[in-house]
Amino acid sequence: MSQLTQALIEVEERLNSLLEEVQRLRPYVQSLEEENARLRRELCALPQQETERVIANAQQIQGVAHDNLERLYNEGFHVCHLHFGQPLEGGDCLFCTGFLMRD
Ligand SMILES: [Zn+2]
Repeated sequence: MSQLTQALIEVEERLNSLLEEVQRLRPYVQSLEEENARLRRELCALPQQETERVIANAQQIQGVAHDNLERLYNEGFHVCHLHFGQPLEGGDCLFCTGFLMRD
């Protein structure tokens, strides 16, 4: 086998593994984009003051590990973007459960 053929085979292998990687990531990227769009829609529906609170909550949530969020929720606190850190009143919160179930 010539050196050129060998080099081409290696390039082809690398391209294939890159392609596999891209295909593996695609659904993940798509779900992030959907989530992003959903959050944007939710944010637009809120008054300015609420919007700022939700953004601050989102930043806080990003810094907390999923296990800890679950524990926080089980201890009776919201972990959703809308009411993060506030006590749960009157049973389950749909935003919280939706958020926890996704991962
Ligand atoms: Zn909640």
